[in-house]
Amino acid sequence: MSELISAPRGVYDILPEESEQWQWLESKLKHVIQLATYREIRVPLFEHTELFKRGVGETTDIVNKEMYTFLDKSDRSLTLRPEGTAGVVRAYLSNSMHRQTPPVKLWYFGPMFRYERTQTGRQRQFHQIGIEALGSAGPAIDAEVIVVANDCLQACGITEYRLEVNSIGCTECRPRYKELLKKALEEKLPMLCNDCKDRFNRNPLRMLDCKVETCRPHFVNLPSTIAELCAPCTEHWQGLLDGLQRAGLSPIINDRLVRGLDYYGRTVFEFISTDKRLGSQSTICAGGRYDYLIDTLGGSPTPAVGWAAGLERIRLVSSAPSGAGPSVFVVSSDDKAALVTATNLRRQGISCDMDFAPAGKPRNLGKQIERANKAGARFAVIQGEDELASNSVTVKDMKSGEQTRIPAEELLSWFDGKVGAAVACTAAHD
Ligand code: ATP
Ligand code: MG
Repeated sequence: MSELISAPRGVYDILPEESEQWQWLESKLKHVIQLATYREIRVPLFEHTELFKRGVGETTDIVNKEMYTFLDKSDRSLTLRPEGTAGVVRAYLSNSMHRQTPPVKLWYFGPMFRYERTQTGRQRQFHQIGIEALGSAGPAIDAEVIVVANDCLQACGITEYRLEVNSIGCTECRPRYKELLKKALEEKLPMLCNDCKDRFNRNPLRMLDCKVETCRPHFVNLPSTIAELCAPCTEHWQGLLDGLQRAGLSPIINDRLVRGLDYYGRTVFEFISTDKRLGSQSTICAGGRYDYLIDTLGGSPTPAVGWAAGLERIRLVSSAPSGAGPSVFVVSSDDKAALVTATNLRRQGISCDMDFAPAGKPRNLGKQIERANKAGARFAVIQGEDELASNSVTVKDMKSGEQTRIPAEELLSWFDGKVGAAVACTAAHD
């Protein structure tokens, strides 16, 4: 026998029990997002490396440390997408979607790739769902995207989380804040980590994002982003808080929350899970306003706001059920007759399985009932020699054990209203 090949580090298989949870989550999320009239966009899994360098930013960990970049056979530098926004904005521009009536409201879902240290809630291939609203500057759309994120989490049965929001100002007021921040951190600089030292000059706002334990205690008595907002940013911020409050959300104002890139402006937010199962990887959804990004990627300046949520983390704290068994399991002494019955039931929208004996000869009925039980079937339809000879079937309720013998032609109508649709077996558990 040849040696087994294992999966690369940081990637994993989504096995059937889990993929049923994924399907459940995806349908809940898609439903909430589409009710808010966001439309799906499917963009490529790889793009020119330059897109992410510009679109995510050269000073980020993603671009500096985490990208899967390779040369193709024509020596082009390509990168597996580490996030969704850059590709969506590239598609928005390449397909002239800026000509559509704003805001253009889009959503995406799919795998992202980052070379990271793997742990619970942190993989090298992971999945994000995200929404982007391009073309509206007012705070109402910021409030909308945040409310949609909140309702997505609720729909997934997630209740233990908090919403943190902040405004990091605009190109008018942020330079002043950056100077104040540098002044406050200057004398602490020797005690901070190398990344912080590097960021001090290149991108001081990102220092606030530092996760190094020994740095955190030094970040006290820092200036507040909110206190330094200019008048239009203050008005936008108040509008956002008002919008969120009216929608019934109670955000926590965290004036240290940042997106450290210059193309982010004003609103930033995070949904942080307080569920212990997630450990320290507790941010389940993060987003903000990126008014200067479209310009950076070669389009004309367009205000935009959006978020991305990590599905692996969402699944861990959600109430996603794993799949239920089939509605019906056909138990028969004739496997060809069983296939006919199963097919008829499936064509009526009833999920149905049957026994396929390994040796080709049907197993005895008792063994088949055992399998029906193991499969979690709601009902067994039994066609023993007796039933086959008299053109009837016995329906066994697998919960109560009650058995009913009926003429074969009444089988389909017997199930009317008794079992759910076949498509998502999980629907029966909703
Ligand atoms: P973190 O600080 O946890 O590294 P991030 O700032 O890199 O997060 P974003 O780029 O904002 O994360 O991505 C949005 C969401 O995607 C995160 O809140 C998280 O739920 C999820 N996510 C990011 N990286 C990973 C990963 N490597 N594995 C699983 N989920 C991830
Ligand atoms: Mg990260």
